[in-house]
Amino acid sequence: MDAFLSEPRDLYHGRALAVVKPSDAAQVARLLALCNEQGVAVVPQGGNTGLVGGQTPDASGCQILLSLQRLDRVREVDPASDAMTLEAGVTLARAQDVAESVDRYFPLSLASEGSCTIGGNLATNAGGVHVLAYGAARDLVLGLEVALADGRLLSTLGKLRKDNTGYNLTQLFVGSEGTLGVITAATLKLFPHPRSRAVAFLGLDDPGKALALLNFVKDHAGPGLQAFELMSRIGLELVLRHIPGARDPLDAPHPWYALIEIAGFSEGEAERVVAATLTEALDAGHARDAMLAQSLDQAAALWRLRESMSEAQKREGGSIKHDISVPIERIPAFLEEAGRRIAAHFPQARPIPFGHMGDGNLHYNVSQPPGAEKAAFLAQWDEMNEIVHGLVAEYDGSISAEHGIGQLKRDLLARVKTPVALDVMRALKQTLDPRGVLNPGKLL
Ligand code: ZN
Repeated sequence: MDAFLSEPRDLYHGRALAVVKPSDAAQVARLLALCNEQGVAVVPQGGNTGLVGGQTPDASGCQILLSLQRLDRVREVDPASDAMTLEAGVTLARAQDVAESVDRYFPLSLASEGSCTIGGNLATNAGGVHVLAYGAARDLVLGLEVALADGRLLSTLGKLRKDNTGYNLTQLFVGSEGTLGVITAATLKLFPHPRSRAVAFLGLDDPGKALALLNFVKDHAGPGLQAFELMSRIGLELVLRHIPGARDPLDAPHPWYALIEIAGFSEGEAERVVAATLTEALDAGHARDAMLAQSLDQAAALWRLRESMSEAQKREGGSIKHDISVPIERIPAFLEEAGRRIAAHFPQARPIPFGHMGDGNLHYNVSQPPGAEKAAFLAQWDEMNEIVHGLVAEYDGSISAEHGIGQLKRDLLARVKTPVALDVMRALKQTLDPRGVLNPGKLL
């Protein structure tokens, strides 16, 4: 059972009564009915890539781990309606391929796409690198099939773009982290396939310039802007040090970098737009230097710099993580103030923020001082969280932008939700899972 009982960051280890792998939605529903009757807790799990312990059972050994991996059928692909219906265990990479097979595009994209699954993506409302253009998982779903705690199957599956018939039950389950029901299938939106793509890497003076550049590129590329990622020099240096084959794309070092991706819907359009935009951005002083990928390989190498950031931090030692969002306009001030407060409390610690600036979402990770003891640094996790999350609250932000709440942030929820909001959430939980068998101890 080992592969199901620990998670990628090695923060949580659970035990389980059994790992159960049903092969269709009816079996999932029957399992839930039985567990509900017997009062046995069920922990649903997709690709086991979540970062907040939502998919890991507790240590009691009394919970059942419900793997959705065998629910991996493609039920329907309908390019004329721009919709596809997939079972929960289909991996995100395969969902992208299914869209591709009918010359459409499914835009959800994240580092774990080879193993994360559609059910998990929706249960956690996953974000990723294309939220700027297409929204988070929540925005990509038309309907769901959900096994309820009492063993009934609720279906809102369907291809309608317009359907004004009361409560949005689909969205209720998106982001509910398996605490209200178990998603067994989903109808997802398809989009026109971009015909050209351009990726560029820019050297910047500071996050204020990044904000100016973001607005400039939005103006010039319009809806073609697919991603706008921010990283710092110190982050890039860790990637260059630890990731084999990583190379600095620019001749001289710069304090900050932006990676932008622009799509075009005709041949060569993206390259034309990005070349014109870069020239003007450099002239306007928003960026110091820029490198435009000349091939798919170069584009992939640029993305690898950004996507290797977590791995590089891991190899550098202990890293205390935050998945935060603030209003985009406030990012430069937030970064400055966060750096100041951390330096005051942890003089040698190294903040290495990076992420989806275009969505106002940063992974504000703090690496241990060079040469320090990893365990001693990680023991300060809560204190560091307190500083960063306190500032996030002052900046009207969120403590979980795209990773969810799970076990890791459950006790922080009361800080960011009003008492009324928490009451309504608990009432929904009580209605749909009165015996508390669905992923107990997570989220609420
Ligand atoms: Zn991210």
